[in-house]
Amino acid sequence: MQAKDAFFIGGAWVPASDRDPLAVIDPSTEQQVSSVPAGTAEDVDAAVVAARAAFEPWAATPVSERAALLAAAADAIEARTDEIALLISTEMGTPLSFSKAVQVGNPVRVLRTYAALLADYAFEEQIANSLVVKEPIGVVGAITPWNYPLHQVVAKVAAALAAGCTVVLKPSEVAPLSAFALAEVFEQVGLPAGVFNLVTGLGPVVGEAIASHPDVDMVSFTGSTAAGKRVMAVGAETVKKVSLELGGKSAFVVLDDADLGKAVKVGLANCFINAGQTCTAWTRMLVPATRYDETLELITAAAAKYPVGAPTDEGTRVGPLANANQYQKVVAFIEQAVADGATVVVGGPERPEGLDKGFYVRPTVLGDVAPGSRVEQEEVFGPVLAVIPYDTEDEAVAIANGTLYGLSGGVFSGDQERAVAIARRMRTGMVDVNGGRFNPLAPFGGYKQSGNGRELGEYGLEEFLEVKSLQL
Ligand code: NAD
Repeated sequence: MQAKDAFFIGGAWVPASDRDPLAVIDPSTEQQVSSVPAGTAEDVDAAVVAARAAFEPWAATPVSERAALLAAAADAIEARTDEIALLISTEMGTPLSFSKAVQVGNPVRVLRTYAALLADYAFEEQIANSLVVKEPIGVVGAITPWNYPLHQVVAKVAAALAAGCTVVLKPSEVAPLSAFALAEVFEQVGLPAGVFNLVTGLGPVVGEAIASHPDVDMVSFTGSTAAGKRVMAVGAETVKKVSLELGGKSAFVVLDDADLGKAVKVGLANCFINAGQTCTAWTRMLVPATRYDETLELITAAAAKYPVGAPTDEGTRVGPLANANQYQKVVAFIEQAVADGATVVVGGPERPEGLDKGFYVRPTVLGDVAPGSRVEQEEVFGPVLAVIPYDTEDEAVAIANGTLYGLSGGVFSGDQERAVAIARRMRTGMVDVNGGRFNPLAPFGGYKQSGNGRELGEYGLEEFLEVKSLQL
């Protein structure tokens, strides 16, 4: 893969070959496959100037034209699905089939939902003698992680552009390549110059330059809670709006009347998806103590259906973790959990057999995990499931709600109403009931230290709108 040596600023590829290159590593081989330039505060400044200049005309562009450009971008990405999916699998390790269906499929769907939503969205409303108008907030800084590299970008950029905002994007330095493909797509479909700008680089340099920039009106951040706190603190200096999509430690509550076979299947899929590197992953399975042993037997059988291997191997369901840091962190978490008294039901900290290179870990299920222990409280961001027995529903809800996070979760029961009642008690932004499917129109985001603000659908659009009232 060719090294990238330019930023996309003001509708042009601006040479950046004199900047330090940041290596892009294939986690399945540990070899460098590309590099991107390490931007500076000056590069951010140039991108913000371009975004500011483009803002007024873009905000005044008829909504139908904005929608048509988003739809064209969706088509152009879809036409490049195989190539972009391979880029993403190469830079962060997710299986190729998953990359096509989800890593590329979701951004295409999200762009289309915004194109469609614009046809009906009411940007104005009358309240008594006031005309309330919803206007784009301005120049948006978008900072994104590596786990769903294109989806996290598009969840912000599609909504911001739909609202009439212009954008400066800093993608993750770990998986930046699909962002370049997105810039090419916007160039190809004729998005006006300066509406979308791309500067790559490190979080504390480029990310903080965006968060602190006086001419950036809003930062939309997805990433770890630690970096999100920093972005919020830096953004506070200029009182800019900061929306945060952060980490999670989501619980899957299995009730005593559940079909355990089905629950285990759904629960494991939601934990091991993308090698556990999913902010909404259900990493804690709460099961009635009376059905604990039975659950572990079912889990052991079901976990065998998660072969680990190279992203390009057809049978692979769990690829390598995205980078060396993540690998070391996840292995250390498993070792610490065992030291804290957990038992290894499936997997463990050793490398998977036959995979001597690459950042591979075994999908791991831990039993006897004590509520309050580290692996029960902290985000692992790897394929590690903690199984926790409970005695009463109140206890299950208390354990589910007993972390600093509040992003997602699931409930499984033979009785839908009973499941919904538990879902309502969970202090999280999203709960899937009896295997309810992901909905790209539903608001996506967290309670507590999982963040603030929502992405996707109408709620996601509204994050990027200011509200003005004209008294008539
Ligand atoms: P990260 O916080 O290390 O990095 C995310 C982005 O922030 C990167 O672009 C990084 O360069 C930048 N960054 C880092 N430090 C910064 C700073 N001081 N100022 C400004 N920007 C900075 O996260 P990651 O390791 O890339 O991603 C994994 C994390 O993201 C997990 O915690 C996961 O739960 C979270 N995540 C959340 C969601 C969600 O929607 N809630 C979605 C995906 C991932």
